[in-house]
Amino acid sequence: MKDHFRDLAIFGGNPAFADQLFVGRPNIGDRQAFLARVNDILDRRWLTNNGAYVQELERKLEEYLGVKHCIAMCNATIALEITIRALGMSGEVIVPSFTFIATPHSLQWQQITPVFCDIDPATHSLDPTRVESLITPRTTGIIGVHLWGKPCAIEQLEAIAQRRNLRLLFDAAHAFGCSHDNRMIGGFGDAEVFSFHATKFFNTFEGGAVTTNDDELAARIRLMKNFGFAGYDNVIYIGTNGKMSEVSAAMGLTSLEHLDDLIALNRRNHEAYGRGLAGLLGVRLVPYDGNNRYNYQYVVLEIDSESAGVDRDLLLQILHAENVMARRYFYPGCHQMEPYRSHFPHAGLLLPETEGLVQRVMSLPTGSAVTEEDISRISSIIRLVLMNGSEMTEALLRRGDAA
Ligand SMILES: *Cc1c(COP(=O)(O)O)cnc(C)c1O
Repeated sequence: MKDHFRDLAIFGGNPAFADQLFVGRPNIGDRQAFLARVNDILDRRWLTNNGAYVQELERKLEEYLGVKHCIAMCNATIALEITIRALGMSGEVIVPSFTFIATPHSLQWQQITPVFCDIDPATHSLDPTRVESLITPRTTGIIGVHLWGKPCAIEQLEAIAQRRNLRLLFDAAHAFGCSHDNRMIGGFGDAEVFSFHATKFFNTFEGGAVTTNDDELAARIRLMKNFGFAGYDNVIYIGTNGKMSEVSAAMGLTSLEHLDDLIALNRRNHEAYGRGLAGLLGVRLVPYDGNNRYNYQYVVLEIDSESAGVDRDLLLQILHAENVMARRYFYPGCHQMEPYRSHFPHAGLLLPETEGLVQRVMSLPTGSAVTEEDISRISSIIRLVLMNGSEMTEALLRRGDAA
């Protein structure tokens, strides 16, 4: 075994990091500003139900996103469920399988069948050229996902939706603060849904929002997220409880004050990874290029095991031993999870790109908890592993502890 292998924790060295570095460690804004807002909430004893902070957050988000209506919610999953229902989707809806499980679940939860469509391996998003062949007489809509905060094929999907008379919803859970053609994500399709979960770029502990320029749709969604109440004692619609609490809105308003700093920090981190991994064979850092705005929240690598000489999962195992808690994403694909796996056991036959991608993708820690020095160290580990890929794989196989 080469001497410098012994520097790695998996070969008996000390882990590179004393504490684990996580993907999606929450960004936290100014603590004093947040606590001052919480004190104010407690003083006024208005904790939820369209309080002053939720209203202020909604107005500020409408302004920031350049959209007519923003409806704050308790999380993005409920926001998706409500919006799907308010749009009158039924029967079948076309979605990618390469997404977080909440996207198909929000359909299946209300007996709508998610029809999985393959992705374009260049963008990781829904391949619009494959959408049309999946449309049947039961199809009522398409849900595109702006994966990694990169806009999916918005124009092509809009054209198909218009031509085939389908509703178009975007799962923008990753895409807060991102733009497309000089317009902020939030105003495309019939509606868009953001997640403000703790692990997302912009968080309200738990939370989410629906944005739309459609007045009627917005009114329907507002009713549905509050049990259908149109006023005291007056329920005019079936509804559920999708309300955001005041303390969540206070968190959102506090983070909003630091948004540009957070984007700059994420961008610096992403560029540091770009420098650290430059020229490495078999690794592609998914780029944020073009003229769009991004939140740079996702540092996504594609590991081509053949040219890298090492398997994605083995690299993951080595990084974990070093306390770098990199993650596979969205492994093994929604179509391989229940209930979809049982409903459509052969779905994979139509999803060759998705099935390939879930074997290659890995995401690395970033955000305010990760420094540029950390990144340079993480990059060195990856470099060491890839430069000695086949030897390292063999050494671990011999020891019998390769995954
Ligand atoms: C996080 C996420 C969701 C769900 O968001 P919650 O706020 O946690 O309910 C939905 N879709 C995608 C693509 C996500 O990443």
